[in-house]
Amino acid sequence: APAVVARGLTKVYGQGDAKVYALREVDVTFETGAFTAIMGPSGSGKSTLMHCLAGLDTATSGTVRIGDVELTGLSDKRLTLLRRERIGFVFQAFNLLPTLTAEQNIRLPLEIAARQADQVLFDRVVETVGLRDRLGHRPTELSGGQQQRVAVARALISKPQVIFADEPTGNLDSRSGAEVLSFLRASVRELGQTIVMVTHDPVAAAYADRVIFLRDGGLVTELTAPTPQSVL
Ligand code: ADP
Ligand code: ADP
Repeated sequence: APAVVARGLTKVYGQGDAKVYALREVDVTFETGAFTAIMGPSGSGKSTLMHCLAGLDTATSGTVRIGDVELTGLSDKRLTLLRRERIGFVFQAFNLLPTLTAEQNIRLPLEIAARQADQVLFDRVVETVGLRDRLGHRPTELSGGQQQRVAVARALISKPQVIFADEPTGNLDSRSGAEVLSFLRASVRELGQTIVMVTHDPVAAAYADRVIFLRDGGLVTELTAPTPQSVL
């Protein structure tokens, strides 16, 4: 079964003359195990689409299914549980807790779900994102790039079925960006996880199996087996 399916997804902000159609009747399917990049100009609806797919925001109309669960109509409590059990996030603004160390931030999803860490996975993730000697630091003591790595590590640590990432390499230089993306790709392949990533960067998009393009809230085209040249 597909990991995520959206049908007729529409999101309207504001009302009357101030109405903005952020998404217009979007139909999209994300197959289990696939790595999809979402591209499109600023304001085309990428963040809104991700937030609706992940159950962080409610669409005005249309439906979203994560695995066999229909999000539409779920109570906030059920939705929170579903996110906790099945979804990992890498937010654009990192959303790290300022009072916690890097290690505590990475382990947070497990703490919340009262689950044990897979120590082998933890070590591999920390090693790959290059945070071994920064684990005791708080977010304010880390660079933007290091905070982004913490956010990526945190999304992987609970082995979620689906990972939503908003510009996961936006604050990294191209070399560390490439490292984080190859790791992300290898790691989701190994566990059969599904990843949906918003990016502006053609090089980052080329790590995906498929790129979908949004314009004015609608899906305009898609590409499989993208290369940095073909997505430009
Ligand atoms: P938001 O989702 O907050 O509206 P955007 O997704 O539009 O923000 O942009 C995220 C970041 O990417 C911003 O810092 C923006 O300056 C940058 N950005 C926007 N367009 C491009 C582009 N074509 N190429 C590279 N970076 C871009
Ligand atoms: P992108 O991520 O591609 O930059 P967004 O999903 O952030 O696009 O935004 C899509 C459209 O919805 C834009 O026109 C944006 O201005 C509008 N929008 C996004 N969030 C809000 C909001 N909270 N209130 C009103 N309009 C919004």
